[in-house]
Amino acid sequence: MSIDVAAPAVTNASFTEIAGAIRQAESIAILSHVRPDGDAFGSQLALALSLKQLGKNVTVWNEDGMLEKYAFLPGSDMLEKPPTEPSTFDLGIALDTATQQRLGLAGEAVSAPRWINIDHHVSNPGYGDLAHIDWSAPATGQILFEFLSDAGLPIDSGIAENLFVAISTDTGSFQYPNTTARTFQIGAELLKCGVDVGRVSQLLYESYPRRRVELLRELLGTMRFVADGRVASFSLSLKVAQKLGVFPEDNEGLIDHLRAIEGVIVAVFFEELIEGKVRVSMRSKDAAADVSAICQKFGGGGHKMAAGARARGTLPEVEERVMEAICAAVESLNR
Ligand code: 5GP
Ligand code: MN
Repeated sequence: MSIDVAAPAVTNASFTEIAGAIRQAESIAILSHVRPDGDAFGSQLALALSLKQLGKNVTVWNEDGMLEKYAFLPGSDMLEKPPTEPSTFDLGIALDTATQQRLGLAGEAVSAPRWINIDHHVSNPGYGDLAHIDWSAPATGQILFEFLSDAGLPIDSGIAENLFVAISTDTGSFQYPNTTARTFQIGAELLKCGVDVGRVSQLLYESYPRRRVELLRELLGTMRFVADGRVASFSLSLKVAQKLGVFPEDNEGLIDHLRAIEGVIVAVFFEELIEGKVRVSMRSKDAAADVSAICQKFGGGGHKMAAGARARGTLPEVEERVMEAICAAVESLNR
């Protein structure tokens, strides 16, 4: 099965080893990836709140700072943009981050003799001193729930809400195929800890700014289909982004409109960035069409069914190269 081939050759540190390293440390920096999502923020804040209760001196940095959309998360005021000068900590912890480079400026701002890497990306090479990569977990928040439970660390209602947001957002509200019985059990445990699922879901999924829907209208205008409707794409140019005044985070999740179309196997979203780069975001509905493998050809990575890359070139150049690679992968499925 291709799933085994794609699994990284990482020897995982045990939860006991990770808890030991945390208990030994006094000052701890908790980081996650650039262009953060609910799993990144939820994981960072859940661990930070728990370790704070343990009496640790916790710093929580993300290159992008806190986004308006996630400002409701308990402990969100702890999350800051990193300073330009590096600081020294006893321990650095990278969460939900496939490569060190994706920590961005937050990674550069932390100097630490020891690093822990907890993640669920199949493309994670296991960087750091103690790595725990579980690519069967649908969210880093799920691994953290298991870790906190195993280590006997606190999970109060605020920590539970962060973990719930991490898991809910990375599973598409408990829908994606990597959602397991265990995920639902953990969801139930988190509700027992005090999570108000109706309130949290409304904040996550029914509170979008109007400009996000205006962006969707523009994107649908650029929608195209290739490979007999098995591949769908849309694109956002810098010009349109500026015209609408959209924030980078406004497009999170819009690609799901393409994936939701009957017959579509691979959905792709192209976003023109400054400095001659294009962000490529891909989703698959069939594990055999491994979008992480396609994105790795363009210097990116991710999961089999959700991956991304930042490719160099103009928007039309990157569109052409990437569409060619996707079509080759989809054609090779022979269906
Ligand atoms: P998204 O499409 O939501 O930006 O990202 C989907 C998944 O692919 C996420 O799990 C994300 O971490 C991963 N991903 C997105 N962009 C990149 C990238 O440039 N490099 C790597 N290695 N992974 C990425
Ligand atoms: Mn994640």
